Amino acid sequence: MQTGFSHLFIPGPTNVPETVRQAMNVPMQDMRAPDFGDLTLGLFRDMKSVFRTETGTVMFFPGSGTGCWEAAITNTLNPGDKVLMARFGQFSSLWVEMAQRLGLEVDVIDVPWGAGTPVKEISRHLGNDSKDEIKAVFVTHNETATGVTSDVAAVRRALDESFHDALLFVDGVSSVASIDFRMDEWRVDLIVTGSQKGLMLPAGLGVLGISEKALDAAKTSTMRRAYFEFSDMLKLNADGYFPYTPPTQLFHGLRRSLDRIAEEGLDNVIARHHRLAEGVRRGIAAWGLPLVAEHHTLYSDTVSAIRVPQEIDARDVLRIAYEDFKTSFGSGLGPLQGKAFRIGHLGDLNEGMCLTALSIAEMALYRAGVALQLGSGVGAAQAWYANADVARPSLRVAAE
Ligand SMILES: *Cc1c(COP(=O)(O)O)cnc(C)c1O
Repeated sequence: MQTGFSHLFIPGPTNVPETVRQAMNVPMQDMRAPDFGDLTLGLFRDMKSVFRTETGTVMFFPGSGTGCWEAAITNTLNPGDKVLMARFGQFSSLWVEMAQRLGLEVDVIDVPWGAGTPVKEISRHLGNDSKDEIKAVFVTHNETATGVTSDVAAVRRALDESFHDALLFVDGVSSVASIDFRMDEWRVDLIVTGSQKGLMLPAGLGVLGISEKALDAAKTSTMRRAYFEFSDMLKLNADGYFPYTPPTQLFHGLRRSLDRIAEEGLDNVIARHHRLAEGVRRGIAAWGLPLVAEHHTLYSDTVSAIRVPQEIDARDVLRIAYEDFKTSFGSGLGPLQGKAFRIGHLGDLNEGMCLTALSIAEMALYRAGVALQLGSGVGAAQAWYANADVARPSLRVAAE
């Protein structure tokens, strides 16, 4: 017998706002109807604002973020192209593996899990590449496995400083619409995201932002692709149509979630994520547990990966939270399995929800045998939330 709500604090799928869920409860409709563009054309327009681009092109692929990784690669590169990628978590590792499977020659920079994109190393590789053999640099903006946010602008500067022409690919699946991302300003060529994270929707849509330069590259790219063909999309998208059946329900949900983001204001959405994340981090610090992220400049505002003491199995913490308190946290992925768990704090979220997450994590940790003071994390977060200035990103926490 289940009573009350279950709690979802994983970094995707995230909580879907009730109004978005309701907006998806509509009858099936004709995706070739003359007025279908009334629904879809506005989505392309408003998604561009979320990517902060005026010159880029947005595409929606039925699928997920991973599908858009594949679309980005196969439409713009050529078999055997050399690309530069850093590996520092589950998602950056999977992206490397995909690039290899698709037949690219991947220069992999391995850095410890908990570190971010190694900008200096990238600079060095670009500087040594006198023949411009590197065709693309890939950056995982927010590594969801470790709770690390990387500096995309710094990678752009590294490219510019070495006068390098490589395409800049960014995985923004767990950053777009929650952490500051600027496609035009950072001259990102391909930005990939999915519907089930910052966009607060069910999974099922991959979203791509494509620069003019990347669209040009797509004209001559010789990699094999069929389903993910940009030119098919472009032709039909111009009038709001799709080359195959699009998920119309998700489009209705997306309409509502983009409206919500616009109503709150993208800057405020980003500031809220920072404010909420900071409270969660203060709670974690009060338990005396370290984050996986190595340095405070890398802390992610959408997910915190928390190391548990050596003698504790993080899987017990997850199981207790789920079975005893109907609450899901993110598991430790790859080498972090059993060693860490994650609190997802992105999407449709507020202070009360973050306090619930901390309160339940605290009880689960306690039951799993971690020596902590019950209430310590909740109290530290309350002290932050009670004093944080909700109206502005800058915070007026007095005399600490
Ligand atoms: C969730 C996630 C993915 C995978 O996206 P799917 O939509 O599950 O395919 C890729 N990269 C990052 C950083 C993610 O957080």
